[in-house]
Amino acid sequence: MPELPEVETIVRMLGPHVEGKRIESADLRLGRMLLGMTTVNFASALKGQAIDRVLRRGKYIILELGGCSLVIHLGMTGQLTFSPADYVENAGFIRTVTGLEKPKGVHPVDKHTHLILNLAGGERVLFRDPRTFGKIFLVPGRDWPLHPRLSILGEEPLTLRIPAFLKRSFPTGSARPIKALLLDQSFLAGVGNIYADEALFRSGIHPMTLVRDLGDEARSRLLEAVKDVLRKGIRNSGTSFSDYRKPDGTEGSNQERLKVYGRGGEPCRACGTTLEKSLVAQRGTVHCPKCQARARTRTAKQAERIPGAGPRKSGKRAGAVPA
Ligand SMILES: [Zn+2]
Repeated sequence: MPELPEVETIVRMLGPHVEGKRIESADLRLGRMLLGMTTVNFASALKGQAIDRVLRRGKYIILELGGCSLVIHLGMTGQLTFSPADYVENAGFIRTVTGLEKPKGVHPVDKHTHLILNLAGGERVLFRDPRTFGKIFLVPGRDWPLHPRLSILGEEPLTLRIPAFLKRSFPTGSARPIKALLLDQSFLAGVGNIYADEALFRSGIHPMTLVRDLGDEARSRLLEAVKDVLRKGIRNSGTSFSDYRKPDGTEGSNQERLKVYGRGGEPCRACGTTLEKSLVAQRGTVHCPKCQARARTRTAKQAERIPGAGPRKSGKRAGAVPA
């Protein structure tokens, strides 16, 4: 799933191409991706609108238009690309996950292209989403921060001021694993499975560590690590593990630099120990059992004495899956 660095990359690359341009028509081809209105009303609301600004909040892409804001969430497999007026669709385009033959440019319009914004002059913005978990909606004026899906979002990690965040934003006494909290969009907006695993590795924290067992020092180390891995992701134009593409259709390069995500069963890049794969908060999770040894606090030990209440023995953890 595209996370903060992928969405930020799209926004930064798409903005200069479309800001100041006018939408001549909007062609929404899969009505169920649109929330809260009919496709006919959607098309007429967008027609003739100028794109003033492209920005990001969490994992949402926002196009501020003259009279409303178009909000797009890429879901699991969404791609938002830009094709110039003179763009010739590559007939030989082959999509593959094996990397043997990589796509060279913007994907041609196909059955997975669910929204086409036709801009004045023949340029187009294409929203393609094979698994259709993406969402599209319109918000009046510039009121997107008030929309229920955006108003619940937590702080933006990149502009996070850690001392203030430590004081007010960590839930007190929480028995949730820290990995689950990192994935919670009302805690930090934009962090998903890839960067949560990378940040936990970078800060040497076991993903199952309970939030209440992390002291201020560990919490602040973790938040610094979150910022570091997100910035690195942006520098590398995002992680193209499967479907994510930049607006020009090419892949990001961060997948080549991941330390743990997607590397279960492979040796840790820091210590050589085999990385372990498990399920935490229903999400595939990879960590290094040596670099991220679980601190055995008194609270955790007490919990272990109650059958079924605490963490089970290593290797028999509930939901553990083979690497
Ligand atoms: Zn290690």
